[in-house]
Amino acid sequence: MFVEFVKGLGITLRQVFRKPTTVNYPEEKRPPSARARWRHKLLRHDDGLERCIGCSLCAGACPAHCINVVAADNTDEDRKSPGERYAAVYEINMLRCIFCGYCEDACPTGAIVLGPDYELADFDRASFIYGKDRLLVPEPGEVAREKKRLVEREIG
Ligand code: SF4
Ligand code: SF4
Repeated sequence: MFVEFVKGLGITLRQVFRKPTTVNYPEEKRPPSARARWRHKLLRHDDGLERCIGCSLCAGACPAHCINVVAADNTDEDRKSPGERYAAVYEINMLRCIFCGYCEDACPTGAIVLGPDYELADFDRASFIYGKDRLLVPEPGEVAREKKRLVEREIG
């Protein structure tokens, strides 16, 4: 009995002097993997037009049925995307999302991508419905730049 006690104590003491494998989150954060697929973003073309053409292929591919797309026609006076149509409404219910990335794979224009942002906690259910106001990046290339930076850091 005493021998087992000393053995157990020895194991505990050994761990005390080892470098911790955990970090003090949220004060300390580990960089996510370059392949991380978390928060979605809707990208733009280099000229600023939205990549999304409102085709709903992402919604069809989503196994959790958490994407809602309502398309509308572009006009010459008010062009949002290069195609005939654009997504007037684009919503993702993040409570249902399982971050499988099928939406990203299904998108023919590379509009929807899952980026490296993983801090998604919130306080009420309604705020987990992400609309275009939260998904559409303000400038072209934002997620692509972030992914490139992460890849370079992993390689370098
Ligand atoms: S990551 Fe998967 S579950 Fe989430 S919205 Fe895309 S297809 Fe749906
Ligand atoms: S994100 Fe892609 S797949 Fe989804 S509606 Fe827009 S263009 Fe179509």
